[in-house]
Amino acid sequence: MTNEFYDKVDPYIKPYSFYKGENTYELLKEWKDIEVVDDLFSASGICGLCGYGKNENGNGIRYEHHIENKYNKNIIKVGSTCIEHFLAETTDNDIKNIQDLIQDRENRAGLEKKKVEISATLKVLKDKKLLDVEWYYRYLSYFEEYKGFSIQHLVNIARNLKKIGLEDKMKYFYPANLNRKIKKGKNKGKTLKGLMMELKLYEFKLIKPCLSSSQIREYEKYHGLRK
Ligand SMILES: [Zn+2]
Repeated sequence: MTNEFYDKVDPYIKPYSFYKGENTYELLKEWKDIEVVDDLFSASGICGLCGYGKNENGNGIRYEHHIENKYNKNIIKVGSTCIEHFLAETTDNDIKNIQDLIQDRENRAGLEKKKVEISATLKVLKDKKLLDVEWYYRYLSYFEEYKGFSIQHLVNIARNLKKIGLEDKMKYFYPANLNRKIKKGKNKGKTLKGLMMELKLYEFKLIKPCLSSSQIREYEKYHGLRK
């Protein structure tokens, strides 16, 4: 930043600032970009920092960016060029957004991996003629859409995997985020838990590898298989 810039902005911003000394650089540090912008829909505004728009005929700023003084909470509206001198503060919300993005990316990577495992396992069933081609693609597109399988799907898949001794592959088939649509749309409003409790013991045993330990505990308690 040049001295001319400091000299120019000082009289505009000093009356609203806490600092009353001569160092404009120090003075500007009191102000932050709060990421609020007003669109005036025409170049009719005046920059509160450098005064642009005050004397020009018809030329002014269209976008008013708000900067706030961190001591006295004054707000000044500045143009798109002057806002470049200010930084927005990182808020807790920004941090949360970044964490959500990372989580989302990890979830998607997890789902991709699961999809590969699932399609490889289903392909074995297809090759062994335990699943016809049409159903193979149906299962894949179901997973694509709902990110999970219905209980009935799981039972069918498990039964066929058992025939070729690959029950351990069942663990790929139960994503934790089994979609609500499956619960509400496809199963007449029954909850996943409700459906699980209705499983016959042999069915439960078939899909056991893809249930969580708390689900197993619940089923076994409900059916008196444990205290
Ligand atoms: Zn300006």
